[in-house]
Amino acid sequence: RKIMQYNDMSKEELLVLKESLNKEYAEAKAKGLALDMSRGKPSAKQLDVSLGLLDTINSSSDLKSLDGTDCRNYGVLDGIPEAKKLMADMMGTTPDHVIVYGNASLNIMYDQISRAYTHGILGNTPWCKLDKVKFLCPVPGYDRHFAITERFGIEMINIPMSESGPDMGMVEEYVSKDASVKGIWCVPKYSNPQGYTYSEETVKRMAALKPAAEDFRIFWDNAYVIHDLYDDNKDEIADIISECEKAGNPDMVFEFASTSKVSFPGSGIAALATSANNIADIKKQLTIQTIGHDKLNQLRHVRFFKDINGLKEHMRKHAEFIRPKFEAVESVLEEELSGLGIGSWTEPKGGYFISFDAMDGCAKAIVAKCKEAGVKLTGAGATFPYGKDPKDSNIRIAPSFPTPEEMKQAADLFVLCVKLVSVEKLLENK
Ligand code: PMP
Repeated sequence: RKIMQYNDMSKEELLVLKESLNKEYAEAKAKGLALDMSRGKPSAKQLDVSLGLLDTINSSSDLKSLDGTDCRNYGVLDGIPEAKKLMADMMGTTPDHVIVYGNASLNIMYDQISRAYTHGILGNTPWCKLDKVKFLCPVPGYDRHFAITERFGIEMINIPMSESGPDMGMVEEYVSKDASVKGIWCVPKYSNPQGYTYSEETVKRMAALKPAAEDFRIFWDNAYVIHDLYDDNKDEIADIISECEKAGNPDMVFEFASTSKVSFPGSGIAALATSANNIADIKKQLTIQTIGHDKLNQLRHVRFFKDINGLKEHMRKHAEFIRPKFEAVESVLEEELSGLGIGSWTEPKGGYFISFDAMDGCAKAIVAKCKEAGVKLTGAGATFPYGKDPKDSNIRIAPSFPTPEEMKQAADLFVLCVKLVSVEKLLENK
């Protein structure tokens, strides 16, 4: 195949190309696809791998936790010991740092921001009493993080991402000079949506920040900490809790994780890891919010996975379902778009997403074209605070949910839409 950059084509060549792409698009539309790739959901097959979880306890089971607690009853604010251990091992920390909550880590994140807003962190002024509160947001990032900070009227500042993490020069500058900067959203391993993992240097610089605000916190969302796609080619992420301790900043981080994309997103377990000071501060409120979370579900998870090795073994089964879909998308992108100069994309070794960057000003139109032909993608702009991608370029691809055949169809349509929109864009300037 002779490859010519679209940008090097004459107006006439582009017009000819546009006509044939339009024809292809009409044919694709006639297929009547109906695929939803807007969220990173596990497929039904992946969920089936966890069905045994439901067989771990029944009416004749011993329903006591290791410390003798009757898990059917009230009590245990911070989680049964074996669940704390499992979640600690998942995050690479120790159980004394951990509180196990209910099923959603997002809920914990919301709660952290909410408490800081109404009551303040460790005796600091509640954020609601301050004129201005700002958060640093590595971009592209996770829309639901940005939605939480937006809800509390917190001003969000874009920080560019690179393959080794957020631009740390910029982060250090903001955090050390501006006391209204109270936090940063981080997805340190297999980031949403790029699939990038913070380098060891990034983690160390993050832990060594010298914040102007005493209540500045790193919101370390380790959602994809065990979500490797390749057994022999995994990213590693350093333990932020011990790094912060070593750097003399033990209270500076809240780490989050859950089994949402390990067991069942609707009924997993989620956890927070942080310092003893923060835990004591949090428990003062938690004890008013609840008498304890679902301990039977915690028990189920521990009995099913047993330990960290069980978790890792389980994630290998997930990877077998997800890997071919990532590779299917990547090979279609490579085959159809490489060398054309109309897009670039990431090739993550784990997580749930591939990030695609179209020519500036094209993302919204590409997503709309896909939708018109029956493939729903995450809304363009969603990967940026306020839903505003300044370049209108980034698109998040979520390959986990469709079947491999559906994924191939969706990818074929996607590249067609990328080509068509790019040609139209280039013609505007010819
Ligand atoms: N954090 C990130 C980075 C995610 O991508 C997701 C799911 N898309 C979540 C958190 C949601 O986690 P949970 O189900 O535990 O609320």
